[in-house]
Amino acid sequence: MANILLEVENLRVAYGGIQAVKGVNFKVTEGELVSLIGANGAGKTTTLKAVTGIQPIAAGDIKFLGKSIAGQGAWNLVKQGLVMVPEGRGTFTRMTITENLLMGAHVRKDDEVQADIDKVFTTFPRLKERATQLAGTMSGGEQQMLAMGRALMARPKVLLLDEPSMGLSPIMVDKIFEVIESIHKQGTTVLLVEQNASRALSIADRGYVMESGEVTMDGAADMLLNDPKVRAAYLGE
Ligand code: ATP
Repeated sequence: MANILLEVENLRVAYGGIQAVKGVNFKVTEGELVSLIGANGAGKTTTLKAVTGIQPIAAGDIKFLGKSIAGQGAWNLVKQGLVMVPEGRGTFTRMTITENLLMGAHVRKDDEVQADIDKVFTTFPRLKERATQLAGTMSGGEQQMLAMGRALMARPKVLLLDEPSMGLSPIMVDKIFEVIESIHKQGTTVLLVEQNASRALSIADRGYVMESGEVTMDGAADMLLNDPKVRAAYLGE
């Protein structure tokens, strides 16, 4: 049986009196690409922040590799292989592309960092062309590639992507989804949060739909893509 890498049980997260996540359950198995879709404000980002130790949880549990990680800090979780590319990318704008990639490898102590930079450059030839350029001078799409490349430098066991297509041109959106698919095919387990439901489900194995802080549907991605309720609510039909 496939190995469950990440398991979220009855997760609750609140901002003061506002319940943003109200008892969410989901899991991600080794090798899967799982998409979490839903409208603005459904609680997707909050869920990712809780999983990666950025936002404290009010109740429930989060298990990574079978052990509870609730309450552990983000840094510690990155070291264990839970690595997020945040909404808005968060690149170091006054550092070069290569320096940003090296920052991603900060948690590692092995001597394969240069080999991994070369791998990232193979995945993203645009970053190679611009290796010495300051990140802040790159386009939105290039910064998204950089943020993904930097996350890969930490050798994630699960790569969590928060709205990677947000604010990008249609051509760049195509490119980003292509790259996510290729990273997944090369063996990285991915949890993808997206408002672009049709694209996110079309590359996923399974999906979860969030509404008002709760998971309202889940299942095989192609089943969700063909579900009339999902089509009406999230695919503009
Ligand atoms: P989006 O796609 O717009 O980011 P989302 O599904 O990721 O939406 P969240 O950002 O997780 O949703 O927001 C869930 C709810 O929590 C929303 O009602 C939002 O207003 C609220 N919220 C998010 N961050 C905070 C915060 N720092 N303080 C107070 N409320 C917050």
